[in-house]
Amino acid sequence: MEKLTLGKSGISVSRLCFGSLTIGPLQAALSADDGSNVIAHALDCGINFIDTAQYYNNYEYIRLALLKSQRYNTVISTKTYAYNRKTAAAAIEEARTAIDRDYIDIFMLHEQESIYTLRGHAEAADYLFEMKERGIIRAAGVSMHHIAAVNGVCDAFYSYPFAIIHPLFNMTGLGIADGDINGMTLAMRRAKAMGIGIFAMKALGGGHLFADAGAAFDFVLDAVDDNGLPLADSVAVGMQSFDEVDANIAYFNKRSFSPEAEERLRTKRRRLHIENYCIGCGICAERCGQKAIAVKNGFAVCDDRICVLCGYCSAVCPLFAIKVL
Ligand code: SF4
Ligand code: SF4
Repeated sequence: MEKLTLGKSGISVSRLCFGSLTIGPLQAALSADDGSNVIAHALDCGINFIDTAQYYNNYEYIRLALLKSQRYNTVISTKTYAYNRKTAAAAIEEARTAIDRDYIDIFMLHEQESIYTLRGHAEAADYLFEMKERGIIRAAGVSMHHIAAVNGVCDAFYSYPFAIIHPLFNMTGLGIADGDINGMTLAMRRAKAMGIGIFAMKALGGGHLFADAGAAFDFVLDAVDDNGLPLADSVAVGMQSFDEVDANIAYFNKRSFSPEAEERLRTKRRRLHIENYCIGCGICAERCGQKAIAVKNGFAVCDDRICVLCGYCSAVCPLFAIKVL
């Protein structure tokens, strides 16, 4: 598998990153043993990069996968909603302890929206940079669904030199919260020109683009910066089975799917399911950054056209009424 260096971070990663959200409690809810087998298979097949988050609650899957895999030097990226020193310190310690690693490669502020939310997380950012100086993390970064957050990272770069960004980037622009794919591409090019490494998320639109997966991957893999070099150094893709790992690796290596994988992708559907015992409390609607879920007539209703199937709302429902199927 081809590897690229994430900007000027010095961190070399496979172009296909294992997006671990999909195996854990917020989505497929595989057992830690089964989920770690899928990750370990991906590592043994040449992927060296795993994306996770404190919110995904799946560090145990990764710890087990690192024990099971024959590969070493796997790059781990995680992210946190921490906003001050205390919560950032707790987030880093949680990751190091649960994954059983002295250091975490990439630690990001999760789901930032603009320069204003970045300023609101300044204490946590300061702490990440301190931990980088001490070698506890190798790079600090920011994840986002907003174009304004990419531009915010660029605007703040000389005070807060985040080395890596993790933006939502797909061929239809599905899930970009404040504009379209052209605006996101321009902002990413600006970041790339400053030496910031980029690994993209939601190349398949959370599942909406399964039927057109080849074209969707081509779009993200072939996007270029101002120098004609890859815009996204790596692409995080959620995978839940050995078959999906094999199909995605084959596509990233040879730009083709097997006929079986083509057929599986053509017929595969994902959707958000809300149980009929929902009480309409609205907590899920407050949590959804996409504004894809709302309470109508005392019941939560999802707008499937804009839901990116992240499953973040399922984690906050007090009745466990939401599932990504
Ligand atoms: S949080 Fe759960 S119970 Fe509350 S509105 Fe959403 S789905 Fe319904
Ligand atoms: S409705 Fe739920 S799954 Fe869909 S985008 Fe919002 S938080 Fe994510």
